[in-house]
Amino acid sequence: MSTFFSVFCRKILFYLELENYVQYNDYGDSMKELKEIKGLGPKTMSNLMKMGIDNSEKLLMFYPFRYNILKRSNIEELKQDDKIIIDGFIETVPTVYHINRKLNKMNFRFRTSNRLLQVVIFNRSFLKNKLFVGIAITVIGKYDIKHNTIVASDIQFEILSDVPKIEPVYHSYYGITTKQIQSYLKEIMSESFEVIDYIPKEIIEKYHFIEKETSLKNIHFPSNIQVLKLSLLRAKYEELFLFMLKMNYLKNEKKKSKGIKRNILFTEVEQFIQTLPFKLTEDQMSTVKEIYIDLNSEKQMNRLVQGDVGSGKTIVSFCAMYMNYLSGYQSALMAPTEILAKQHYNKLLDIFKDENIEVSLLTGKTKVKEKKEIYENLKNGKIKIVVGTHALISEAVEYYNLGLVITDEQHRFGVNQRGNLKNKGFSPDILYMSATPIPRTYALTIYGDMDTSSIRTMPNGRLPVITIIKTNNEIRDVLESMYQELRKGHQVYVIAPLIEESEKIDLENVKILEEKMNKAFGKLYKIGGLHGKMSAIEKEIVMDSFQKNEIQILISTTVVEVGVDVANATMMVIFDSERFGLSALHQLRGRVGRSKLQSYCILISDKEKERLSILTKTSDGFKISEEDFRLRGSGDLFGVRQSGDMQFGIADMKKDFSILIKAKEDSEAYLSSNSFDNNILLKHYIDGTHTLS
Ligand code: ADP
Ligand code: MG
Repeated sequence: MSTFFSVFCRKILFYLELENYVQYNDYGDSMKELKEIKGLGPKTMSNLMKMGIDNSEKLLMFYPFRYNILKRSNIEELKQDDKIIIDGFIETVPTVYHINRKLNKMNFRFRTSNRLLQVVIFNRSFLKNKLFVGIAITVIGKYDIKHNTIVASDIQFEILSDVPKIEPVYHSYYGITTKQIQSYLKEIMSESFEVIDYIPKEIIEKYHFIEKETSLKNIHFPSNIQVLKLSLLRAKYEELFLFMLKMNYLKNEKKKSKGIKRNILFTEVEQFIQTLPFKLTEDQMSTVKEIYIDLNSEKQMNRLVQGDVGSGKTIVSFCAMYMNYLSGYQSALMAPTEILAKQHYNKLLDIFKDENIEVSLLTGKTKVKEKKEIYENLKNGKIKIVVGTHALISEAVEYYNLGLVITDEQHRFGVNQRGNLKNKGFSPDILYMSATPIPRTYALTIYGDMDTSSIRTMPNGRLPVITIIKTNNEIRDVLESMYQELRKGHQVYVIAPLIEESEKIDLENVKILEEKMNKAFGKLYKIGGLHGKMSAIEKEIVMDSFQKNEIQILISTTVVEVGVDVANATMMVIFDSERFGLSALHQLRGRVGRSKLQSYCILISDKEKERLSILTKTSDGFKISEEDFRLRGSGDLFGVRQSGDMQFGIADMKKDFSILIKAKEDSEAYLSSNSFDNNILLKHYIDGTHTLS
């Protein structure tokens, strides 16, 4: 009875608080509406809307992306072509030369302290009638000492003050300029305004954060660097805190969501492991145990297995499927390509040959009649394990009791595809496998809502792949090295230049290379080609022959990149390797070095030796992706999970990593504190409902 009462009271309290919240959120007079801003016409308004800015608060959160700091240069210290910012007086009437219709040049003499300099500026002839002799200006540009000239990029009509001037610069969308943005902001801030501060009080106190309103004023109109720094810190923290809070909240919720509770005995799993053709590595074993615990618990598994190419993730997933089978449920394994699906299928048949488990392969290429049968048997539960491509998630597929969903090379799938498969069961356990090790920064954010297992050690007896770089001129050496391997009875992959725009050129590249290789090796060895234009069956035939060593040299586009496993292949030659990201090259290279044999990777490139050389020094995928990330940014790493959530307005996951870590820790602690229960604002933020309807 008393529990009921207290719940009831809490509810009432909740609604009261909501009321407060609504009032709080309704700025009333405390903030100007966009349409009240002087000079903000309907056209700009509609452009702002397109940018997602539909009220003053959002305009306040439209942050500068960088700052120009105007500080007087010490001319004595400058070298040829250094950047210069200097103030002084105009000495001569500017002369304008019209070089052609699109180009004009203006010259004048300029005095700064006790020096006379020449100033040149292009395409600013319209300034001529403002540049009178004797007036004070600031010139920004490049200093050409040899010609005693400043090649100016900008002229400002004022003298520099002794404190550096800080100018915010905003991204320009739909032609809206920094000047416009600043004038609107000035108007909004001209009266007292109030914004919602999401950072909890105790955290504000902990870090002595300045007031949000003050911080916004300084971010848009900075007066000095110290305060600007504090302001940026607080804004970044707020953004990252909210992000991590949401991530952690979702993770906690997922943990609460009920999945299938199983009663598998680990001894049975161990017996199965005994039958495998090799001993599992320590990391493989501990990952299997983590999965075992997840499967036996009633919470839904949501686990990512990260491990370098060749670290042996596949067998771990087979163990998971075996456990799921023991408890009577169906498993689905989804692979990104037909080749890979087929390969998994064959391995499954092999590994489970002594068990009486019905395994099927379902891809886009499965024949209609066979497909129907598979659908039938998935629905009636006869099939226990199904492997396939995204055909597995087509609408027609119904499962009898899907208990485990595994996606291999998960970074290749879009978020939605994965989601779909997930929805096929009641609440099946989910296992993701990824061979793209993700830098810690990203793992935290991208996979913040998952548990992760890492397989860091390679199976015993593996030798790291020896990687070398060769130029196109050294092709003879390359052919010689290939011959050395072929002579030992080993096989070689050759990766044709990558041309993304056109599959047709892809094909030609493969064909040309095939011819060349035929000239060099055709008499002694068989050569096969693999490219995107081939049908699934054609690809399969070639892959099959390579697997059986009927083909010794496989020329391919990057189709082989994911997962393909031919242990006897000991060399990979990659043409135009500078076109690939380091992680992609590392993935490709992972196709060799899959046995006790010493393997080699030859990167052919005339450019970017330095970047590529990282691959010659390390085979640690985590390190390589870190480096890729540093050099190319996140965009190239994966086309995944870049949901709107991750677009920060001011924070930068890479640069602000230390703030991110703090925000992560703080948000975890806060979530488990009583304060969170009572923080209606943050709860609303997490629900994504800012309006109450
Ligand atoms: P990936 O993690 O890239 O998916 P795979 O699962 O394809 O790697 O494993 C690569 C190769 O290593 C396969 O041929 C597999 O049979 C083999 N392998 C996996 N685990 C072990 C182990 N513990 N000992 C020896 N070989 C192993
Ligand atoms: Mg794999």
